[in-house]
Amino acid sequence: MNTNRTEPRLALQQIGHRGLFRHAVPVEWGGTGGRFADMVEAHIWKGRECLDPGLILAINAHLWGSVFPLLRFGNPGQKQKWLRGLIEGVLIGGHAITEPHSGSDPSAMETQARPVPGGFVLNGVKRYITNAPVADLLVVYALLESKPSAFLLIPEDPGLTVTTTHATVACHNASMGEIHLQNCRIHSDRQLGKKGAGLSMIQSALEWERAFIFAGIAGMMEWQLEQVIDFSRKRRSGKDHLGRHQAIAHRIADMRIRLDTLLLWLRECARLADEGKRITMASAQTKVIASEAFLQSTLDAIHVLGARGLDEETGMASWLNDAAAGRLFSGSTEIQKNLIAALLGTGEGYKSR
Ligand SMILES: Cc1cc2nc3c(=O)[nH]c(=O)nc-3n(C[C@H](O)[C@H](O)[C@H](O)COP(=O)(O)OP(=O)(O)OC[C@H]3O[C@@H](n4cnc5c(N)ncnc54)[C@H](O)[C@@H]3O)c2cc1C
Repeated sequence: MNTNRTEPRLALQQIGHRGLFRHAVPVEWGGTGGRFADMVEAHIWKGRECLDPGLILAINAHLWGSVFPLLRFGNPGQKQKWLRGLIEGVLIGGHAITEPHSGSDPSAMETQARPVPGGFVLNGVKRYITNAPVADLLVVYALLESKPSAFLLIPEDPGLTVTTTHATVACHNASMGEIHLQNCRIHSDRQLGKKGAGLSMIQSALEWERAFIFAGIAGMMEWQLEQVIDFSRKRRSGKDHLGRHQAIAHRIADMRIRLDTLLLWLRECARLADEGKRITMASAQTKVIASEAFLQSTLDAIHVLGARGLDEETGMASWLNDAAAGRLFSGSTEIQKNLIAALLGTGEGYKSR
């Protein structure tokens, strides 16, 4: 597989220097001022070029976890201090929502922010945080007087430790870590957004993430499909090449249908975002379709390639862990279906992520 792998922080910085974080960001902050539609195409291209689900995850954690929350909820001083660096890729960001006892339901968070003169003292643990070991800025969610709220933390903050325990076997090239906050003292200017706005800020960040995180994966799925088609034409079984057998041809057709469905959804989310419309329903639907498509097409690709699908050289099998993770991060398939049902006025409540 033609992967282009470098150390996670450096890889993200290089991507930033090449302008991938500038799309759909106003010109005044160093963005292109362009459209989400352009961003989707750039991410598809990037996925195809890097063939690296970990890098795709890291890019999206940076963008939707830190750049867009800061853009949307940051005060002028906070934007001035961090935004341009994040957009240029000089600084790397991410967001910390998940905790040992709070995953799908962020309202169960236990991390506390206690007000003290001039600032806050934070205590708690965040787990499975993409980019945590390489981040310069993290948006961390905590309860401020029982109300979910957001804070900007930097690795130098006293009382903040990042460990690499509880990393996953998926998305290998994204660095992942656990954040321990032990009497972590920060200045009052580090509160992001309003007290008590934490859950709606999480919802907003995850809506963007769900809508666009699979754009890079779609680029990888294009490559995956080409590999399978190529193999099915060259490999012979009986008197014919493999693709002449209907069972194989249908698998390949299904891969194409899934990929094109995903591309339609990604472009629909971009259209809605560019028109300033809500993407809550569309992004939840995109996330379900995309994550299930990536997993099933990876299984199909491995199957059509036969034992070669499990060769390290093809790299196809390693995507199975990544695809399994894709059904969990940014809110699992079940949570998206709960959300869609709630938006339709049925099912479990809307509070889960
Ligand atoms: C690769 C990767 C990267 C990640 N990066 C980040 C990050 O950067 N920042 C961050 O904060 N978190 C991150 N996470 C954590 C991720 O957001 C959580 O894994 C996810 O929210 C699910 O939470 P959980 O794993 O605790 O599962 P749980 O919430 O414990 O759920 C376990 C299972 O039960 C199902 N379930 C839970 N509640 C319901 C319900 N109400 N109805 C039906 N089914 C339900 C779930 O779908 C799941 O299948 C990452 C995870 C992965 C795998």
